[in-house]
Amino acid sequence: MIVNDFKQELLTAATKDDQAALEAVGWQVVDDYLRTLTKQQWQIGDLEPFADLWYDKAPDAVINAARECMRAGASNGWRPRAGQLAPYFATSQSTKQNATHPTQTPAALALATKLRADGQPICDCTPNSTQLYPTTGLMRCPHCGGLDAGQVEDAMKAAA
Ligand SMILES: [Zn+2]
Repeated sequence: MIVNDFKQELLTAATKDDQAALEAVGWQVVDDYLRTLTKQQWQIGDLEPFADLWYDKAPDAVINAARECMRAGASNGWRPRAGQLAPYFATSQSTKQNATHPTQTPAALALATKLRADGQPICDCTPNSTQLYPTTGLMRCPHCGGLDAGQVEDAMKAAA
């Protein structure tokens, strides 16, 4: 129940705008960041919805998500609402922690599997010169148009 105690402590501090208590739980940096993010007035209790939704995230992760949200223009230049941060936790996690190579994403492998099943050939040019097509993550040979043997093999393994 440590998490719930932490959440309660954080929520109480956020609701009261109690800076000492926020500092004690490590969230004063989040309060400072959000407070100065735009010229909009920051009122007592404004931190509370952020604390309520994101208490289990590291303060740095909350700040990063808010920064990414602003950068993406998702809040039209206004301070993001707590719920608007959700997709930006996902992106920062997937790019930092388990960066999947674009040719190895589930979508790219599924596409390779499908095209192979549709009867598309595998490139056997020498030397092998398949290239990454960034929008789909698919590898193809610019000479024969064939699929990449390695990627097709990876796709079969992923599907098995
Ligand atoms: Zn080829």
